Amino acid sequence: MFDTLQDRLAATFKNLRGKGKLTEADIDATAREIRIALLEADVNLGVVKEFIKNIKERCLGAEVSEALNPSQQIIKIVNEELVDILGGDTRTIRFAKKPPTVIMLAGLQGAGKTTLAGKLAHWLKSEGHSPLLVAADLQRPNAVNQLQVVAGRAGVHCFAPEPGNGVGDPVQVARASIDEADRRLYDVVIVDTAGRLGVDEVLMQQAADIKAAVTPDEVLFVVDAMIGQDAVNTAQAFADGVGYDGVVLTKLDGDARGGAALSIARVIGKPIMFASSGEGMKDFDVFHPERMASRILG
Ligand code: GDP
Repeated sequence: MFDTLQDRLAATFKNLRGKGKLTEADIDATAREIRIALLEADVNLGVVKEFIKNIKERCLGAEVSEALNPSQQIIKIVNEELVDILGGDTRTIRFAKKPPTVIMLAGLQGAGKTTLAGKLAHWLKSEGHSPLLVAADLQRPNAVNQLQVVAGRAGVHCFAPEPGNGVGDPVQVARASIDEADRRLYDVVIVDTAGRLGVDEVLMQQAADIKAAVTPDEVLFVVDAMIGQDAVNTAQAFADGVGYDGVVLTKLDGDARGGAALSIARVIGKPIMFASSGEGMKDFDVFHPERMASRILG
């Protein structure tokens, strides 16, 4: 997904290689090229502006002018600023002191929530946890069945609505799942919620109601990295309407420019916790800002 960005930045740094002392014009030219590369990768305009301002300030300072190898120093600065934009430190699930830890997934329909629920459960299981998947998406006719299939692939149990558990009421289902986890000693509950094709009031209200009912330890906003600047807009709408603790980027295996999704951490101020890059259970990783920055810088 970030091949073009990678290539453009590599070309920019190649121009610097071998240069001794850098003039202000060299730094301006480099900053300009980085700016174009980021904008072409669809990184949010505000984020690009801040990024370039920080880089220029640092590049014109003593860090670079007194460096033995100024061009290496610039790459180091770009790397550090990129890590910062991507959220700084790695952040994953914070487990509740008293189990179960409740994780709620929110996002638009098609964002990849159900698939992600399975991947997350699969990962948690590999980390020694016993997760329970909860089908609180009762909007889409096939959603419950899809989550059951995903649970089977992940090798975990799925709590799906049955008569008496509040069929047709996702809030009841979510609430009942916590009792189920207490009874059967699941230590993590992952609640899959319904999405809509676009942001709307009913969707937000339902997600907010589920959140109020189960008081999750972590609400994760799941977003398709291929939808461009809409990723940032949707992230803002969910931040305002539901509120969440972290972001999961999906479909990073796509060929669209993914810069907008990378801007979410900075624009919304919430960490990107996980990245999903395919339909297989293992196409999933904890998001490490440092590793992503290194990948982008090649
Ligand atoms: P939901 O509506 O948010 O629950 O989204 P789904 O989990 O049903 O995913 C929507 C579609 O995207 C499905 O066809 C998934 O197989 C696909 N999908 C989900 N995650 C990824 C991913 O990381 N990469 C790719 N290529 N496809 C994905």
